[in-house]
Amino acid sequence: MKICFIVAMQAEAQPFIDRFGVSEVQSFFAPLPCKLYRARVGESELDVVLNGQQQGSDLVGCEPATVATLAAIQKLSPDLVINSGTCGAFRKNGARIGDVFVANAVMFHDRRVPGDDAWGTQSLGNYPVYERSAEVAGALAMKMGKVTTGSSLDMQPCDLKIIEENHGELKDMEGAAVAFVCSLFGTPVMLLKSVTDLCDSGAETYEIFRQNLALASQAIADANERVVRYLAKNA
Ligand code: SAH
Repeated sequence: MKICFIVAMQAEAQPFIDRFGVSEVQSFFAPLPCKLYRARVGESELDVVLNGQQQGSDLVGCEPATVATLAAIQKLSPDLVINSGTCGAFRKNGARIGDVFVANAVMFHDRRVPGDDAWGTQSLGNYPVYERSAEVAGALAMKMGKVTTGSSLDMQPCDLKIIEENHGELKDMEGAAVAFVCSLFGTPVMLLKSVTDLCDSGAETYEIFRQNLALASQAIADANERVVRYLAKNA
């Protein structure tokens, strides 16, 4: 099975890259800033695509994730895309920093499009996730939750309203964009997220995110490796 990880930040991907001894394929996506790291794991090909950088820092958010996913699917034709990264979660749901979740659903939470239900429904997305997500999560004793995606690290009251109305549990900035592109190609997509911050803790999200990024990136590297090995063994 050809698996392609899509990751926003180098810091999130580095522990995983180091572990697999994956090497960078220079200029693979030129002129796009996306970066490709490639390795072989048993019979499987493992690609890790990073969104890349602009203006001196990693490109986070929906547009870079869309570009990276589109380029990755067109140039690599993966059997499975895994969007791996960090997220915010909610203390009221029992989430803790460093927890790893597999998405059971994914949608946008910052698209407010008035009009008939069709526009609203389309804007929010609710894209399909890999049909084996629950099996993988069950086999590896990982939690599951609904990912909601928006373009900001902070959370405005109107975001929270949509998150609560739709039972969102994990807040990120890329998941739905990756799943949107995958839905256009019919490429299965799985989302693996580790928690850097709790959106309802009252603390300043950015500070907490910075403090916990290394820990959450180790947790996601462990989870990525376990998922890759599980899928390689249970193709
Ligand atoms: N580049 C900045 C901040 C990164 S933005 C820095 O490191 O200094 C946060 C990244 O982590 C995004 O890729 C997003 O998907 C994820 N993330 C973690 N916690 C989040 C939260 N509470 N809300 C939205 N995205 C979050």
